[in-house]
Amino acid sequence: MSEFGSLTGDPEDWGDLQSVLHRAVDDMVEFLQHIRQENAWDPVPEDLKEKLKFPLSAEPKNYDELYQTFLKEIKPYHGGNIHPRFWGWVNGTGLPSGLLSSFLTATLNINNGGRDHIGLYLERQVLSTLKQIFPLPAESSGVLTGGCSEANLIGLTAARYAMSDSDIRIHGIKEQSKQMVFYCSDQAHSSITKAIELLGIGRKFIRYIKSLPDFSMDVSALKNQILKDRNTGLKPVCVIANIGTVNTGAFDDLGEISQLCKEEGIWLHIDAAFGMMSSLVPKYESYTNLIREADSVAFDLHKWFYMQYDVGCVFIKDELTHLKSFSSRPDYLRGDVRGMMGGGHWFTEYGIQLSRSFRALKVWFALQEIGVERFQSLIEKNIEEANHMGQLIKNSHKLELLAPVSLNIICFRYLPAIKLDIDGFNRELLFRIHEEGNFIISSTNLRGNFSLRMAITNHRTLVSDIDYAFKEILRIGELVEGSLVSDKD
Ligand SMILES: *Cc1c(COP(=O)(O)O)cnc(C)c1O
Repeated sequence: MSEFGSLTGDPEDWGDLQSVLHRAVDDMVEFLQHIRQENAWDPVPEDLKEKLKFPLSAEPKNYDELYQTFLKEIKPYHGGNIHPRFWGWVNGTGLPSGLLSSFLTATLNINNGGRDHIGLYLERQVLSTLKQIFPLPAESSGVLTGGCSEANLIGLTAARYAMSDSDIRIHGIKEQSKQMVFYCSDQAHSSITKAIELLGIGRKFIRYIKSLPDFSMDVSALKNQILKDRNTGLKPVCVIANIGTVNTGAFDDLGEISQLCKEEGIWLHIDAAFGMMSSLVPKYESYTNLIREADSVAFDLHKWFYMQYDVGCVFIKDELTHLKSFSSRPDYLRGDVRGMMGGGHWFTEYGIQLSRSFRALKVWFALQEIGVERFQSLIEKNIEEANHMGQLIKNSHKLELLAPVSLNIICFRYLPAIKLDIDGFNRELLFRIHEEGNFIISSTNLRGNFSLRMAITNHRTLVSDIDYAFKEILRIGELVEGSLVSDKD
């Protein structure tokens, strides 16, 4: 007899688990249903930060105790992005079906790196559905990722592999005959820089091509830079185009860029983190159809497709290049013709992770719960809301737009009547907005100016929420003006 007897990690009484789960279901559904009545954001109290430390030697706690602590100490201080008036950064809202799918995902606890089980087939199926929904080549191969940062890294790794002159997985960067150079606009996302750093290329060899007044890449500057680099013995390998820049939602000129990449024999990667969703809207279609020209495309499902964190994806036009860039099946992961070793290519061969969560299930639920038509309407609604905010700002003499509203992002600032440091003023305005917590926006820097930034990737937002925020920004702006004037007195 083992000293451990019948010890497992399972509960002694499964009924305890069942009863707390039943309560959590009722509480959380009700919480989401009434989220509008809550503050969008409450800061974590200082004493709570201290209290969160717990001793590792603690006696085991029962589910109920832990759940009560969750309700009191964790739930009230969520990140706000489930709220209808959250427009900070580019955050997704989450979908009600995510409650169901995450519970079921946790139950099955599938490792979707590989092995012959339903996860393999379901992920293949959702990827193939995504290829029908979005302008992606039918022959491309894909993989679900932890977000667009990882998706960009996978796309750029494939680019580096395809463009290397001696197999880079064997010979490494140093044995390439020429120094590789990557190109993107000065509006590219930080994850592009990070990916290229991780690939061992170094920031010195990223060319941040200046953007035009509409924040799209200056393609003639790109052309000149490529020529210049070739003439000095460097090797241009990849252009990263943006469909929806993170700062302003700008689109690079895909027609010209893909043409140039073809002529120059350069890999074209598209970062369409949230911009991809605009392809559902007829107005953008003729343009987004060009996404099909890319060698690799990365986008998120947890931003503007509202799915629970985290899930993004990447598609690579040439499956063989995709596999050659990532596949590794040592003895202990060998595939075979029968048993659980079967199933053909495993998802670990298309990306970085070996052990992977069963993200495919929430995608499968969400795509069917919402359906393409309702997704399209939700995207259109958010674009309309952004245009509405843009119009309100244009008509106001207290606010000014700092970038054209081309998609779902509004960049603007408050114009104080008194002569003040305008950047400092708007920063103070943003602090006060957050501290009141009724709605959330964030900020960025555009051509040296501090800009307030509102990104609408929120299916819960109604036009009335936009009207509310607009009025509140004016009210809080006046308050700041008042307080700064009295400071001066
Ligand atoms: C958010 C974003 C990313 C990074 O995606 P994550 O899912 O946050 O990793 C990359 N590019 C753009 C344009 C983005 O908006």
